[in-house]
Amino acid sequence: MRVLSRAFALGLVLVFVATACTSGSATPSPTAAASSSASTRPHFDLATYEYSLQTKGKIRIGTQEDNPPFSVKNPATGKWDGFDVAYGREIAKAIFGDTDDPDKYIEYVAVTSATRIPSLTDNKADVIIKTFTINDDRKKQIDFTDVYFKTGQRILVKKDNTTINEVADLAGKTVCAQRGSTSEQNISAATSSAARLLLLDSYPACLLALQQGQADAVSTDETILFGLAKQDANTKLVGKYFSTELYGIGVKKSVGGDRTGFVDFLNRTQVAMITNGTWAKIYEQYISPVSFDKKRTPDD
Ligand code: GLU
Repeated sequence: MRVLSRAFALGLVLVFVATACTSGSATPSPTAAASSSASTRPHFDLATYEYSLQTKGKIRIGTQEDNPPFSVKNPATGKWDGFDVAYGREIAKAIFGDTDDPDKYIEYVAVTSATRIPSLTDNKADVIIKTFTINDDRKKQIDFTDVYFKTGQRILVKKDNTTINEVADLAGKTVCAQRGSTSEQNISAATSSAARLLLLDSYPACLLALQQGQADAVSTDETILFGLAKQDANTKLVGKYFSTELYGIGVKKSVGGDRTGFVDFLNRTQVAMITNGTWAKIYEQYISPVSFDKKRTPDD
């Protein structure tokens, strides 16, 4: 049953890949060469983490295999896609130089909400880019960049559901969320623990639980729910935001100065992405098809 569900969830992800993603890789810039040469490679101070990554020739990016529209691994081709993936490719280009194939410098590390922090603290990933809300609890364990995406938590139900309209209506209902997410905590807080939580390891798996009647609702960040609603016309989003979710890139805290300045470097890369229109472009490519809006910056 679990295997079947997993296969079905992957099938949903494949549908997303086919419908929402218009290209399998980052859009090449007009000047991109087939591969970055020493001349296009940025220069970093020897003591920086960016320099150590450039020397190794790889950045390990932790993201999720099935978190549309932010990150999806196509099980047939092994190719990654989505907003967070495109964002990671821009970071790779900032470290290794302009290229039409940033994936050759990226080692993708598959994470779930619950394994994000351990994959940094256990040094399995250099950065986590996976719908990762910045909060004080997490900041005690890892560092975050500036906010690169803003959303808030809402609720997804079947279209014919008339009883769940706001978060208070989740009391006594079974609500699916990803284990280890702020979504899980927010549902408990907003209902004084009166909702029954069904905790799974991906949101497509939660959609399947909703479709099969194992859950009355799925609740997480609105943009993730937009991605699920796009996959199933028999669902609808209800209620107002009952949280604010500000995403940052997660980085291991510096030990003995080994990552001094790395978060600043990532923040500068983000400023450049916003100023040169790359942020707006990847929003339009991956988010607009499910949100039906356009944004130029995370603050719009
Ligand atoms: N943004 C929330 C979090 O960081 C929910 C989304 C997710 O689990 O990836 O926990």
